[in-house]
Amino acid sequence: MVSSESLSGYYSGFFPGERRTQLPGGYMGRILRVDLSSGLMKDENLPEEPMLRKLWGGQLLAEYILLHELEMGIDPYSRENIIVAMTGPITATGFTPGGTKLCFVYLSPATRYTLGRAATSGFLGVALKGAGYDGLIITGASANPTYLYIEEGRAELRDASHVWGKGTRETEEILRREVGRQDARIGCIGPAGENLVRAAMLVNDYNHVAAHGVGAVMGSKRLKAIVAWGTKRPRVFDRKALIETGERWRVALTPRIYTVEKRKKGLGLGGDAWGAITKYNWRSTIVTDESRGWDQNRVTLRPCFQCPRLCPWDVEFGEGRHKGKLGHFNAGGEWLDTFFNLGFKGNDVLYLSERINDLGIECSYFANGAGLAFEAWEKGVLGPERTDGLKLEWGNLEAAETLLERCARRQGWLGNLLADGPKELAQALGGEALKWVVHVKGGGTPAQHEWRPLIKNTLSELVTSGGMKSQSQSYWDWQPPPDLRYREKWGPLDRERPDGWVQSLLIVEKTRQLCGAMGGCWFAVQHTEPDSLTSLVDAFNATTGWDVSLDEAYDVGHRSIILQGLFGTQRGWIADHDWKDVGPRFLEPVPDGKHKGFTIAKWLPDLVYEYYRLSGRHEKTGRPFMETLAKLGLEEFSEWVQLD
Ligand code: SF4
Repeated sequence: MVSSESLSGYYSGFFPGERRTQLPGGYMGRILRVDLSSGLMKDENLPEEPMLRKLWGGQLLAEYILLHELEMGIDPYSRENIIVAMTGPITATGFTPGGTKLCFVYLSPATRYTLGRAATSGFLGVALKGAGYDGLIITGASANPTYLYIEEGRAELRDASHVWGKGTRETEEILRREVGRQDARIGCIGPAGENLVRAAMLVNDYNHVAAHGVGAVMGSKRLKAIVAWGTKRPRVFDRKALIETGERWRVALTPRIYTVEKRKKGLGLGGDAWGAITKYNWRSTIVTDESRGWDQNRVTLRPCFQCPRLCPWDVEFGEGRHKGKLGHFNAGGEWLDTFFNLGFKGNDVLYLSERINDLGIECSYFANGAGLAFEAWEKGVLGPERTDGLKLEWGNLEAAETLLERCARRQGWLGNLLADGPKELAQALGGEALKWVVHVKGGGTPAQHEWRPLIKNTLSELVTSGGMKSQSQSYWDWQPPPDLRYREKWGPLDRERPDGWVQSLLIVEKTRQLCGAMGGCWFAVQHTEPDSLTSLVDAFNATTGWDVSLDEAYDVGHRSIILQGLFGTQRGWIADHDWKDVGPRFLEPVPDGKHKGFTIAKWLPDLVYEYYRLSGRHEKTGRPFMETLAKLGLEEFSEWVQLD
């Protein structure tokens, strides 16, 4: 177990034995360090106030810890991999929208060499703070299935043999009964995590997921679940000011609030916003009757902790072969495009989405592996001898459901390759199949929407650290957010021209990173509305007692981006991989529909180069320049800078 006494250099004393500075508002003050190999656990004090003001929380604080504690040259599934999970100051205050976030970072099993990041909403982060902790550092590996139970400042490791092999829904029910707390919050893995499916998820509170591989790392550590319960709440600096700023934030968010009607008709981001969905392994985009029958379903909105946006929802199927069954879904709609991509419509799509969440497989990973397999079947490249008799015909429910099970349990030739990822499947099929695959940096895949008509969003999928969710996916942003027009002078942008879209991407990425570092959910930030960003920062200041400006907040977002890239730099990633290690289908022109023929491929790699230059990094290596590190106070990482 790493002990805080053995930490060296800049990092020594990072977790003070006794605080010398006052703990700002919003924090609980403690991180729980858990070593699964020895079973030892230890409380660490949060860093001193100047360090907290630099790193805030969420992904940024977590990735700083990971950069200092993770060894080089390890396998993601070795016991040396570390999971750092962190909330932020606004998590669990209850006075702002989106105060729910818990962000996990680790070495990604999907790419094997970049930062893995998985963030979730709901109630798990709130419960962790309720139990007295801002975050977790999980090291080592247990010999047997285990789960971590944290209640009111006490933690213990418990046997999980009886839930190993079970789906996430049943696991959650059993563990909630076992701990005897009706309102205990549970984040767990399904069979996919246990069997090291490279993009396996953690699933929490039924409706929420932390995707992109954290479930696989938990499985490699035989950690089935994290269960938290407690009654504590963070102290806030100025409660009255927080209530006022939280209300301003709510007003700015109003245009994005979900309703039952929206959920009954909604086709997901691409289908609703720019009229394109992924179909037949990205070979068609045209919306037809994909939502048939949804109007007969019973939909219940299931809000996250104190958040008015109402993203999560439950469904009871009101018609068809799944009538009477239930489904539980979260904020995004990637699962819709996942099964549209395999030729499904109507309640088959929602039924399969519920199955994938129960098994704990990240949906776009499956969408692109299975989509490739279905296309290979259609073209005669894949036959029944490799599918154990399954007929991979578009819209074949039995085939898709069986493939989900086989992928989650690594059964058979195809199930095992789907678990390893779409690129591995393409290489195993060989020949023309290498051109039909969608992936980014090998194991990672984009979040599953039809991004190709949009310059910024397609670029964002490329430059994210593969295996992570892209962090600039809001879909239009043709001019700067109203609150930033004092400093951002660009736009209005043309949807069909590349000029200016990189600035737009970087602003959204920094916005989302700084929101996550606060412990906020970026779905709760409507940055295109006036007062959305100023109310966010004002609420943060009312919580912590600091006087952070918008400019300082954007430096925090920038700092998080740079550390995320540095993690990959240390392990062999270079920026050129962003546009070279991509499944070719993702860069093909849009095949049909109203965006037919459009592609950003003709502007690559220049857009990638521009992105790295504008973010203070070398265009081909992605390494930061020394002046970038100095501006952000990250000089301790100077050995990784671009020298020429
Ligand atoms: S914005 Fe949506 S996903 Fe985020 S906390 Fe609010 S309800 Fe949950």
